[in-house]
Amino acid sequence: MPSGKSSNEYDVCIVGSGAGGGMAAYVLTQAGARVVMLEAGREWYSTRNSTMLRWVYQSPRRGASTRERPFGEFDACDGGWEIPGEPYTTAPGTRFDWFRARMLGGRTNHWGRISLRFGPDDFRRKSIDGLGDDWPISYEDIAPYYDRVDRLIGVFGSREGLRNDPDGIFLPPPKPRCYELLVKQTCDRLGITCIPARLSILTRPLNGRPACHYCGQCNRGCATNSNFSSPAVLIEPALRTGRLTLITNAMAREVTVGRDGLATGVSYIDKTTGEDRHVSARIIVLAASACETARLLLNSKSSLFPQGLANSSGVVGKYLTDTTGTDVVGFIPKLMDHVPHNEDGVGGGHIYMPWWLDNKKLDFPRGYHIEVWGGLGMPSYGFMGGIHRHPGGSGGGYGKQLKDEYRRLYGATIGFSGRGEMIPNENCYCELDPEVVDQWGIPVLRFHWKWSDYEYNQVKHMQETFRALIAEMGGVPLSPMPTREQGYGIAPGGRIIHELGTTRMGNDPRTSVLNRFCQAHDVPNLFVADGGPFVSQPDKNPTWTILALAWRTADYITTLMKQRAI
Ligand SMILES: Cc1cc2nc3c(=O)[nH]c(=O)nc-3n(C[C@H](O)[C@H](O)[C@H](O)COP(=O)(O)OP(=O)(O)OC[C@H]3O[C@@H](n4cnc5c(N)ncnc54)[C@H](O)[C@@H]3O)c2cc1C
Ligand code: SF4
Repeated sequence: MPSGKSSNEYDVCIVGSGAGGGMAAYVLTQAGARVVMLEAGREWYSTRNSTMLRWVYQSPRRGASTRERPFGEFDACDGGWEIPGEPYTTAPGTRFDWFRARMLGGRTNHWGRISLRFGPDDFRRKSIDGLGDDWPISYEDIAPYYDRVDRLIGVFGSREGLRNDPDGIFLPPPKPRCYELLVKQTCDRLGITCIPARLSILTRPLNGRPACHYCGQCNRGCATNSNFSSPAVLIEPALRTGRLTLITNAMAREVTVGRDGLATGVSYIDKTTGEDRHVSARIIVLAASACETARLLLNSKSSLFPQGLANSSGVVGKYLTDTTGTDVVGFIPKLMDHVPHNEDGVGGGHIYMPWWLDNKKLDFPRGYHIEVWGGLGMPSYGFMGGIHRHPGGSGGGYGKQLKDEYRRLYGATIGFSGRGEMIPNENCYCELDPEVVDQWGIPVLRFHWKWSDYEYNQVKHMQETFRALIAEMGGVPLSPMPTREQGYGIAPGGRIIHELGTTRMGNDPRTSVLNRFCQAHDVPNLFVADGGPFVSQPDKNPTWTILALAWRTADYITTLMKQRAI
């Protein structure tokens, strides 16, 4: 690998250390590049920092969530829906909730590890139903990278041969728990496909990492590294090459450019001192998460790029999508008074339902999958939503009566969450707020959001399906069917935390930011390796595709560097 011009110049500067940034650093350092990584948060490694196996009663808060830890006190994420000193705004009358991590590894420390491949149809939806756009790449282009990600990181699942839910190179899946068996039997009766989940958790030792011991606490970060997080599986190996310089607490402000229009480096704020600094590199890879990367590009204005960097198309920030979502919880009397039994398992569901219907017979395009939750996990603050309100109970109580009530009812609810595909639309985008800046004076994002009838109709179908499943199990839903006015219970934009798009790829520089290798059309030494390049938002959770695309992009960068083409 040819090295940089001077000793102060790195071959590559990567911004962000989550799924995309971690993978880019792993591949590029293995290939011999000298890489510097800027990460806005602190160092965090699950082997040292995880709260795995801590009892809830060891904390006076009993695990309750806070503004800093919205997913509970023990959750492995610095960040949240609100970050002090780092606001964002929404256009009047619209709502978009933006979840951000600020730590080494980003959201990969606490994510759900649902690791699904996109299918062949997902890359060419416009050709199939005329909506949205096709990707400039096909499943065949990315499949070898999915294979590599499977082999490196590890994912369990079962070979099912479903056409648009491709099988991977799977480790054996864990057995269904008791309530999951009940769901599976019910799905079989209703004709809903129900198969083992696909999660990046090791059920067998892999590449020096031990198998999971089924504590069920993946969101706390795994102290044995048996699940996937970017620091444990990508960044630590990259550091071991001696070619990665990691700068934490470094908030990137702007990509700098030279007179030739090429990127020259990244300016950033050292958050520990508040000082402005700069790193020089021949190649820049942005992986700060889709919206943060768009923000960086829009803030990188110059006389050569007055609309922001790589934005001659005006598409930076556009085609923002999130997964559609809604939930229903059901009380299932059949599960009351159960024989105490061990339901330990991985920190996530052991089954799921991939999309099983034909849209031609429905009033919405594109599908959704169903995630299932319930069982006998370790209770913490607020569990069961308050026993005095439970439909199977007698209104709460004290002492023995209350304990008996908990024993009788605990584990007798099952929840269903739909996760569906939205069609990108022109009303969903982010731009720079003309007035508001963050604590370092950097302009912040303003979001615009509007669901269309496609999404509302799809979510209505989710609600009806979940209620049919609960009824078939002999249960009752814990909430009434939401009305059209209530959006059929659709979660607000951003709430499913799968924001994608904003720097989409395409063959036409007039309608896309990046080419088919995630290289900026306008700036050949600038690449994006997070969820920004996505052209559409299939129902499958996005991170396995972010990882595969980032590997493909890093391979392409390596080839160009070896050819001295950039
Ligand atoms: C609770 C939860 C559950 C989830 N479950 C799943 C799931 O089951 N399956 C799935 O596929 N996806 C899931 N996701 C989504 C998944 O976490 C994201 O898709 C994935 O982490 C995105 O990777 P990324 O590299 O783009 O961004 P991130 O992981 O967010 O990493 C971005 C990094 O960039 C840093 N950064 C941001 N701005 C700057 C800046 N200006 N300068 C320097 N550094 C910066 C951040 O600090 C962060 O470390 C879940 C997310 C959450 C929050
Ligand atoms: S369930 Fe398994 S992978 Fe998850 S934290 Fe526990 S041991 Fe680690």
